[in-house]
Amino acid sequence: MYTGGQAPIFIMKEGTTSTRGRSAQSKNIAAAKAVADSVRSTLGPKGMDKMLVDSMGDVVITNDGATILKEMDIVEPAAKMIIEVAKTQEQHCHDGTTSAVVIAGELLKRSEDLIEQNVHPTVICEGFRLAAEKATGLLEEHGFSTDSNETLAEVAKTALTGKSAGAVKEFLADICVRAVNSVGQEEDGERLIDLADIKVEKKQGGSIRDSTLIDGIILDKERVHTGMPRYLNDANIALVNSAIEVKKTEVDAKIHITNPNQLASFLEEEENYLRGLVEKIQAAGANAVICQKGIDDLAQHYLSKAGIFAIRRAKKSDMEALSKATGGSVVTNLDDLSEEDLGHAARIEERKIGDSNMTFITGCPEAKSVSVLLRGGTEHVVDEIRRAFDDGVGVVSVAWEDGTVLTGGGSVFAALSRELRAYAEGIGGREQMAIEAFASALEVIPRTLAENAGLDPVDTIIELRKAHAEGKSHTGINVYDGGVSDMKSANVLEPLRVVEQAIQSATETAVMILRIDDVISSKGMSSGGMGDMDMGMGGMGGMPPM
Ligand code: ADP
Ligand code: MG
Repeated sequence: MYTGGQAPIFIMKEGTTSTRGRSAQSKNIAAAKAVADSVRSTLGPKGMDKMLVDSMGDVVITNDGATILKEMDIVEPAAKMIIEVAKTQEQHCHDGTTSAVVIAGELLKRSEDLIEQNVHPTVICEGFRLAAEKATGLLEEHGFSTDSNETLAEVAKTALTGKSAGAVKEFLADICVRAVNSVGQEEDGERLIDLADIKVEKKQGGSIRDSTLIDGIILDKERVHTGMPRYLNDANIALVNSAIEVKKTEVDAKIHITNPNQLASFLEEEENYLRGLVEKIQAAGANAVICQKGIDDLAQHYLSKAGIFAIRRAKKSDMEALSKATGGSVVTNLDDLSEEDLGHAARIEERKIGDSNMTFITGCPEAKSVSVLLRGGTEHVVDEIRRAFDDGVGVVSVAWEDGTVLTGGGSVFAALSRELRAYAEGIGGREQMAIEAFASALEVIPRTLAENAGLDPVDTIIELRKAHAEGKSHTGINVYDGGVSDMKSANVLEPLRVVEQAIQSATETAVMILRIDDVISSKGMSSGGMGDMDMGMGGMGGMPPM
């Protein structure tokens, strides 16, 4: 790039700093490891929770890796890359975030040792890539197909174990499986789930066991008029996305009224118009109307007189969900409303949940969208239940779509570790060292599970390796009784995709970080942006002291 051995000339803004070579590498590795270490203690059923307090004093208590990393205000660039691992994991698999981050941290830690032994980072990267590719292939061999709801429920239970929702995992797992079964679509053998079709409403108060799945929709709304029926059976629902009001003109118009008769007839005109709208709803055969916009007071009165159940200002997303659940179509102009547009439900009912009224639209035939109401004693409990539920329903959907699961509890990682060591022997050279390092790094999962369960990590790993050497390939960490045991008979199961993605994204990120040998950061590139250019704080330049 540079000729004649001349020193390169950088023309950069004053204050730009550059950290290079080994120093850049070790700084990046240290930052990434620090992030991984921060979530390590939460891994597994016996993992601890973290209490996160933001600058506003708001508190989140969670065991969820993705949430912890999301809430942490991190500026260090390499650390941010590790957080990306968690995000990717969360997006694709809904679970395994802590595992992915912990693996990435361990891969980097192992590379540090290799770099010490003068193995070049590019060789390490190549070895890691080979190992990850091999591991992906091996995973397929360890997977077994799942078809039953029982297996799906076990997958959900594994994801929920150790969360604060763990005590009711059976109960929540059942909701997850039923929800996924209702909204899953199958086309040409291709299975697909849009999790947006599982609408979650949380309401604080009551107990977790008061949570329910509804073959329909729950709206956090009450009927507009108390004169309306509180419930109806065989609901025929009009879905309207325009206001049931007198149309307002775009321009300011004034009407001059010169005598009282004119006023009366003007008002009568308005009344007739509104009555007309309500009659159109009635004529279509609807006994309920959900309106995305407002409903005029007078129209409310007519609707209530007609015995029609009405809700106003429903959310747009709720209208879409309603349409999917009830089979009705959303109508803009009431003139166009006909019987075919109506959605159907066995029952529409207003119920008092906690201290507010909610509307339950249930018994929708062929509902392609369902709702889950999550309850819990306090706000923190409901929030954590929500996160647990998202994990549970996420893994069940992944398992349902892919149809392949693996045994958990670190069993698959122990098996891969063993197989990769054998594979490394055939590679030779320094890459072999990298593949061996990769193999050892994967053991971080069973080791951490053991540590977090209060077991002796060394003894447990030795026991684990022994079992695998004897061909007991489903052996993992028994976090409850200590030692190791068969994870298949313990029904600790997770989707293959979760493990595969965790290994892949951890490897990619480790490789990316390892390949960096120059960090050029401009001053003031902290989260504050351009505003704090002149603050001159040594640590603000994107590379704060560790
Ligand atoms: P992540 O964010 O990676 O999902 P978790 O805290 O949910 O982290 O822990 C997941 C790990 O816990 C997985 O390796 C899983 O196999 C393991 N695990 C879950 N249930 C059990 C169990 N009953 N016994 C042993 N390991 C378990
Ligand atoms: Mg998990």
